[in-house]
Amino acid sequence: MGGSSASPCDLDREFAPQIAQLIATPPLQAAQEYYDELIQSKKHDGIRVNFSSKHGKGVCANKDFAEGDLILKDQILVGSQHSLNKIDCAVCSYCFRFIGSIEFQIGRRLYWQSIGLSSDCTDRGHCHESDVGSSASSSGATKENSNTLPEEVLVSLITGDKSLPFTDHFSLPQVVPCCGCEEERYCSQSCADSDWETYHSLLCTGSKTESSRKSALQKFVEHANGSNDIFLVAAKVITFTLLRYKKLKIQSEFQKNTDESNFSLLMEAWKPISMGFKKRWWDSVALPEDVDSCDEDSFRQQIRDLAFTSLQLLKDAIFDPECAPLFSLEVYGHIIGMFELNNLGLVVASPIQDYFIHIDDLPDDKKEEAKKVTRPFLDALGEDYAVPCEGTAFFPLQSCMNHSCCPNAKAFKRDEDIDGHAVILALKPIRKDDEITISYIDEDVPYEERQAQLADYGFICACPRCQEEKPY
Ligand SMILES: [Zn+2]
Ligand SMILES: [Zn+2]
Ligand SMILES: [Zn+2]
Repeated sequence: MGGSSASPCDLDREFAPQIAQLIATPPLQAAQEYYDELIQSKKHDGIRVNFSSKHGKGVCANKDFAEGDLILKDQILVGSQHSLNKIDCAVCSYCFRFIGSIEFQIGRRLYWQSIGLSSDCTDRGHCHESDVGSSASSSGATKENSNTLPEEVLVSLITGDKSLPFTDHFSLPQVVPCCGCEEERYCSQSCADSDWETYHSLLCTGSKTESSRKSALQKFVEHANGSNDIFLVAAKVITFTLLRYKKLKIQSEFQKNTDESNFSLLMEAWKPISMGFKKRWWDSVALPEDVDSCDEDSFRQQIRDLAFTSLQLLKDAIFDPECAPLFSLEVYGHIIGMFELNNLGLVVASPIQDYFIHIDDLPDDKKEEAKKVTRPFLDALGEDYAVPCEGTAFFPLQSCMNHSCCPNAKAFKRDEDIDGHAVILALKPIRKDDEITISYIDEDVPYEERQAQLADYGFICACPRCQEEKPY
């Protein structure tokens, strides 16, 4: 496996004992307390997280649920929109709601499409080769499109000078730009402030950042966009921890400023992340089909080296000697593994879909009139006219739910779920104390296929259905 050759990272050796503590499974009691507190603070009184020696972590019902009931709306701990998806969808960088207006969304996407930014032959071709082990999903605006509209029309949609009929039924929050850079946008000042405090103040490439750090950050982002955008979300995990650490440090000013006390603050800041750990990325990622099994070692070493390159670039930008173990390759690999081995991505449906459906449902006379205006835009957008917002995210409670091939719950976004939360609904009546299970895979396939897909998550399923269908 990939760990066979020595790590290229000096910090891995220098801070080996601290790193071992960071990546260790948290003690049972500390984990139980963490989840009890989280559930209480978010008022998710319908569930609890249980630990058993046999099945590990799991989520149980704390009350009865009827079919279709909402079980949980789980807020993202750390998440990020896929780089390519940013071309198709303008969403709040903190809560992932669509922002601006229907006109802004349509105009922006067609504008990028018209200058070729979203076509297959640009970025995408390059990034594919080295996009190893990525679960980044595709963006919709990749098709060549001959229905180009005049640039000035698209620009006037973006600026708000031109409006489309009936979009007032689909108003979106106004765009609040980051106070530093032009990369991040928000649905509100409160999302902008939260993002700044939680992750972005260390990652902003805008005017508030000193220029040496700024250019280092730009190099890091460029590398991630060209190789695997999972590094962007890994960087957010690190800044999330660093900023929590700094806050804790201010709160405990009276304490001695020793290496030991600093490390215990780092452990505390790191706690929410430590709960979600699985395995090292390069050891656990499934071997792509085009890689021969005898090349497995070199493949795993190659993606480890890619992660190391990314980490070096990130260190150039935000390294903090007090939190040095956090910048080790070992920790970076575990952070990435946590996202790659997760079963639920970030998805938010596009309001553009609802908009065109609304136009289609109008009474005939109104419909004809509206369509005269909207038709060219719909044609230009093409088949995938309503690409959803997609990205990588970690949901602290949803990720505790175990898999079953006959699950009693599922992740499902209802019409009112317009942000990045994970929404879990009951598929059948669930009684108090029953375990709540979801399916990590498409469960409508035969036994062997299910087991093969679940092998990527590192377990053999022994759910009631698998027990029954298991060949003798
Ligand atoms: Zn927001
Ligand atoms: Zn910024
Ligand atoms: Zn099963």
